[in-house]
Amino acid sequence: MEYIGKYKEMAEQFRKDGCDEVMIAEFISREMEEDAFYDSGLEDAIDSEKLWAEFPNDIKDLFLNSALCDKCGVSSFAPGYKIVGSKYSVVIEGKCIKCSEDMVRVCD
Ligand SMILES: [Zn+2]
Repeated sequence: MEYIGKYKEMAEQFRKDGCDEVMIAEFISREMEEDAFYDSGLEDAIDSEKLWAEFPNDIKDLFLNSALCDKCGVSSFAPGYKIVGSKYSVVIEGKCIKCSEDMVRVCD
């Protein structure tokens, strides 16, 4: 499993501490979910966050890695993205992992 940014640092620390990969994946996915939760705006966010939370992790990964940066063509969000959107759809707002250009991905 490859991690990025601060999660990569966390994973490296866990490995140094002797954690196995399963534990590391568990810790980091929890951390990522918390980050996504706390970074989200409060207004209108309840329902879309709820929907997002119900997505299986592999679907979340798929959405988070299938956006498209207009500037450099990279398709992954940097950590710290927000879950926004209407009652019936989830929208991810974040920044390109490579060039920090704003990116939006509608999960439909
Ligand atoms: Zn970019």
